[in-house]
Amino acid sequence: MNRGTAFFSNLQARLVLLVLLAVIPALGLTLYTNLEERKLRKAQVQEHALRLARIVSADHEQLIEGARKLLAGLARLSPVIDRNRAAACNELFADVLTRHSSYANLGVIGADGNVFCSAVPMTGQAYAGDRTYFRRARDTRDFAVGDYQIGRITGKSALNFGHPVFVNGHLRVVLFAALDLTWLNEFAGRVGLPTGSMLTVIDRHGTILARYPDHAKWVGKSMPESVVLKETTAQKGNGTTEGRSDDGMPRLFSFAPFGGTASSANAYISIGIPTTVAFADANRILTRNLLALGLVAGLALAAAWAGGNLFIVRHIQSLVGATKRVAAGELNVRAGLPPGQGELSQLASAFDQMAESLERAQERRLQEEELRRKNYQLEQQNLIIQEASRLKTEFVSMVSHELRTPLTSIRGYADLLLEDKQIVGEERESLTIVKKNAHRMLGLINDLLDLSCMEAGKIELQRANLDLTRVIPEVAGALRPLIEAKRQRLRLDLEDALPAVWADGDRVTQILTNLVSNALKYTPAEGSISVAARRDDGFVRVDVSDTGVGLSTEAQAQLFTKFFRVPDRSPQAATGTGLGLAITRSLVELHGGHITVSSAPGQGSTFTFSLPVLGAST
Ligand code: ADP
Repeated sequence: MNRGTAFFSNLQARLVLLVLLAVIPALGLTLYTNLEERKLRKAQVQEHALRLARIVSADHEQLIEGARKLLAGLARLSPVIDRNRAAACNELFADVLTRHSSYANLGVIGADGNVFCSAVPMTGQAYAGDRTYFRRARDTRDFAVGDYQIGRITGKSALNFGHPVFVNGHLRVVLFAALDLTWLNEFAGRVGLPTGSMLTVIDRHGTILARYPDHAKWVGKSMPESVVLKETTAQKGNGTTEGRSDDGMPRLFSFAPFGGTASSANAYISIGIPTTVAFADANRILTRNLLALGLVAGLALAAAWAGGNLFIVRHIQSLVGATKRVAAGELNVRAGLPPGQGELSQLASAFDQMAESLERAQERRLQEEELRRKNYQLEQQNLIIQEASRLKTEFVSMVSHELRTPLTSIRGYADLLLEDKQIVGEERESLTIVKKNAHRMLGLINDLLDLSCMEAGKIELQRANLDLTRVIPEVAGALRPLIEAKRQRLRLDLEDALPAVWADGDRVTQILTNLVSNALKYTPAEGSISVAARRDDGFVRVDVSDTGVGLSTEAQAQLFTKFFRVPDRSPQAATGTGLGLAITRSLVELHGGHITVSSAPGQGSTFTFSLPVLGAST
């Protein structure tokens, strides 16, 4: 794109261009009006010239008529009009001339064409036989008007008339009168032309007959090349033209014929008004209109430029800037245009909405990406944990298996040795300790094995319809010696017609044994333990309650995790492993049940678990 095209693709420049385009018709109208004004002015000047020509023609005709009468009167003085009485004739005609100032000369021409009588004294012989008026008078035998000419005797521009006198059919003389054309100059001075104007009378051959001003300088000069003459012959009659006059000044010429018809005009009268004067009004109006138009256009341009910048360009530039920044990734950028009903405001608010949507979408994408990343990390950690857990479970189960056999042997041999009554005293005591510890370690190992099997999903429940009203008293019976040893009370509260649960008998016994053992273990002597069972919406709910030491909220939160034990407990608690409740929860959940605890320090505890009833649950 070249610089010009780039400039006009600029919105502000286009606005300016629009204003300029709007100004063009006004400019055209102004110029057209000026043209009309000039035409009008030309017509006025033309009208003026015609009027002058008519006045001049009328005066002229009167003068011709006067000349006719004068010559006819003089012709009657035939005795004096004689070649032989030239002196008397001269005297008479000179006398008549003094009384008729409009004539340059009066005289008589002989039949041979030589002037023999002249009011203006002749310096020598004057021949007039070639003059038009002479020949016409001779040929037509009547009063004749000649051409405009410069007199041979007077040297003045004049229009000559001839009056023939015939005797016996033969031409005797022709009387002539030369009409002085200086009256034309005086006339021109009188009519009051505009300043600097000139009035010229020119005959059809291009000779200047009268001229105002500078009459003396121009009269008699031949100007066949004159602009006016060319135009008069071209336009045949009256008209106007523009051109330079003899003095080099540009003028508006208007011309009209006089002294004959338009086609056979003897002479033309022309008025040349300097164009600066002729068109002064038109030029002044044009200048004023152009100045006003320029001022209005300038103001409109300034308004278009400043207004375009203020109301459009600045807003668009800020929109373009915002768009570029959004495109570069700065989604929090807004157009920042004031709200409104205009198209630009609507565009800006649409842009802002778009940027907001983009920003929200990007935030969502970032959040999703972050979530995916964290998820992936968690999955990886989970895999590691699962692997570690699997390895740990494998390790625990392997170690437990390896330990169980030697421990069983140790316990067996200790039992066997204790049967020997000869072992007494310290030896028997040591053996008893060995047996007890071997027993405890076997318990621990069994618990560990149970847990690792459950975690590895290797435990298979032997489910059957299980009557808890039978199992609960059995467990209570098995533990009764321990309960009684602590002088505790045990109460069973079993609902009548309790439905059978769908469960593994051994595992349910294990669950109950764990909970009741804990209850008696963490309840002081002479405390109370109760086991209640009732139907609960497709499950049987069992509560194992005691009036023991109770548990803090923090302890309850961790109670079912492996190896968790509440510190600072009574001496009997020292025997625990912290695995019992973890195994219990796994077993309950394996059955599709749920276990919870409700307790407070010093206020006893209630462990509640549920087991599904066959056909009532899924
Ligand atoms: P342990 O072999 O130590 O009994 P458990 O998993 O069975 O392991 O119990 C975990 C801990 O919970 C115990 O060490 C004990 O402090 C607390 N606990 C369990 N049952 C009760 C109860 N009925 N009353 C108070 N504390 C209990």
